[in-house]
Amino acid sequence: MAVLQVPKTCPAGVVVNEGPDFHVEVEEVPVPVPGPNDVLIRLNATGICYSDIHYMLNDLPIPAMSTFSVRSPGHEGAGVIVALGSNVTNWKIGDRAGIKPAYDACFNCELCWTGRETYCDESPQIGLQFPGSYQQYVLSPARYTSRIPEGVDDFSAGPIMCSGSTIYCSLKESGLRPGDWAVFPGAGGGVGHMGVQLAKAMGMRVVGVDGGEEKRALCMKLGCEAFVDFEKVKDVAEEVVRICDGKGAHGVFVTATSASAYASAPLMTRISGKVMCVGLPPAGTAIAGADPLLFVGKNLQIIGTKVGSLLDTERALEFAARGLLKPICEVFPLAQMPEAVKKLQSGKVAGRVVVDFNA
Ligand SMILES: [Zn+2]
Ligand SMILES: [Zn+2]
Repeated sequence: MAVLQVPKTCPAGVVVNEGPDFHVEVEEVPVPVPGPNDVLIRLNATGICYSDIHYMLNDLPIPAMSTFSVRSPGHEGAGVIVALGSNVTNWKIGDRAGIKPAYDACFNCELCWTGRETYCDESPQIGLQFPGSYQQYVLSPARYTSRIPEGVDDFSAGPIMCSGSTIYCSLKESGLRPGDWAVFPGAGGGVGHMGVQLAKAMGMRVVGVDGGEEKRALCMKLGCEAFVDFEKVKDVAEEVVRICDGKGAHGVFVTATSASAYASAPLMTRISGKVMCVGLPPAGTAIAGADPLLFVGKNLQIIGTKVGSLLDTERALEFAARGLLKPICEVFPLAQMPEAVKKLQSGKVAGRVVVDFNA
């Protein structure tokens, strides 16, 4: 096993009191040792994603982190390879690498063969079933680790691993075309603000929906043609329809997680419009759908997409390398990881929260 200055322990943000009153503490944990097919990555940055908060709150209908003896969430990491398992030949020490929500896949089923490996039965989640990117040194299967291209710094690459590639995947699956109206409820958030940039780069006409002046300014700067502030506008759906030629959007990408965002999305679409479900509300708190009369009358389509595949992640990183996708980050030093998590939980973040492991 080739190695490079790997310490015995490393700092990690760990969840304490998993459940509704959780908090995060930073402590020293053992550095993991790569298996034959793994790489060991020393992370420089990790994004903080709302899914991490779901896992720590334990409010999704899935087994808790503690079931898997995992204490560190996180799935948006970027850094450098520092050790290789004995079988690994496709990576070198010092290569830049990132980890994304899916930890691996079987590569031997229909889903894997068709680029939908994130739905594979054997695709576990890092930061849930395996220690995640709140831990500075993490393992990743060599075959499922993403390369970070030139020109994309780690503070950008981290958030693209989940948020950027997730919304790229949704945009791709929506089938929207250049000139079509794409609306983003939650446009000023971690996933939404990357969706705005990608949709604009793909030639779509973009409308942001979110609350407050800071988010409005961010959305307009990133390429929205119009912004609807739900704190000010009484009937948000009506206003979106008015903006989109009086007919409604071709696609509504729900990156927000509230029941109201999901409830109003079908009302924003035009005939044959699509509601793309991206944001994860706590289990049992929201419904994506509408009265069947609306489905029939509008040929309404409601589609969910999960996190990005290997290919989606590569494509999202290419947009970043070309200067067309630039995550807006608020960077916290490692010692303030607990505050960073609290801030995201409060919903008061424009863009993405990222933690710097070297600060
Ligand atoms: Zn995520
Ligand atoms: Zn598979």
